[in-house]
Amino acid sequence: MMLTKGAKMYEGKAKILYETDNPDRVIQYFKDDATAFNAQKRGTILDKGVVNNKISAAMFKYLEAQGIATHFVEPLSDREMLVKRVQIIPLEVTIRNIVAGGMAKMLGIEEGLVLKQPVFEYHYKSDALGDPLINDDHALALGMATEQELRLIRERSFQVNDALKAYFAKRGIDLVDFKLEFGRHKGQILLADEISPDTCRFWEQGSRRKLDKDRFRRDLGGVEEAYQEMLKRVVG
Ligand code: 5GP
Repeated sequence: MMLTKGAKMYEGKAKILYETDNPDRVIQYFKDDATAFNAQKRGTILDKGVVNNKISAAMFKYLEAQGIATHFVEPLSDREMLVKRVQIIPLEVTIRNIVAGGMAKMLGIEEGLVLKQPVFEYHYKSDALGDPLINDDHALALGMATEQELRLIRERSFQVNDALKAYFAKRGIDLVDFKLEFGRHKGQILLADEISPDTCRFWEQGSRRKLDKDRFRRDLGGVEEAYQEMLKRVVG
C-alpha cells in the first residue's frame, strides 16, 4: 500500500515522526543526532540513524515473531520505518541484567556485577527532571497508566528481556540493560520507540568491550565503529 509522507508531527532528540495520509500510521525517521545527560551533551554519530533504524526493525520483527505486539509495520528506507500511531505512556521502563550506568551510580556499586535476577524499573519520562526513578504507586496515583496496563507492561518487558538476551547471546553479546517505551493503540498496548545501541547496553562477551552509546556518553572513542559492529552482529 502506498502511503504519502505528510507534515512533521514531532521531533525528538534522535527521531522525527511524520504524519501520513493514513491516520493510524506514522513514519519514524532516525537521525544521527546524539545527546546524553538530558541533552547537556550533544553531538552526531555518523550513520547512527541508519544503524538504529535497521537494528530496531530487526528487533521488532523478531519480537513480533515471539508474540510481542509492537508498533512496527514495515521498513521504508535506510532511515525510516512505518509504525502504528500510538499515544506514548510517559514511562521509561528499564530492565537490568548487569549493574551499569544509573544503578551503579544510585547504589554505589561497581559496574559489571551480574544480578541474581533482572531488575525492573519505571522512570518518569521527563528530560527536565532527568527521567527520575518512580514506582508503580507513583504511576497509578498520578494517572500515568492503569493497573492493568502496568501489569501488561511488566509482563511484556520481562518477555522482551528473555527474548533479547537469547538473541544477543547467540551473537556473542551480553545484554546489560535496556529502556523500553510503550504506547496505546486502539485499546492495545504496543511496544514502541526503538531498540538500538542508543537504548540498550551491549557488552562483547568475555572482553566486556562496550558496543553502545556509552562510547559517546563517556568519550571512549570508536563510537561509529561500535554501532557498525552491532549492525554486523544483527544482520550478519
Ligand atoms: P541508566 O538508567 O543506567 O542510565 O540506563 C539504563 C538503560 O536504559 C541503558 O541501556 C540506557 O541506554 C537506557 N536509557 C535509559 N534512559 C534513557 C534515555 O533517556 N534515552 C536513551 N536513549 N536510553 C536510555
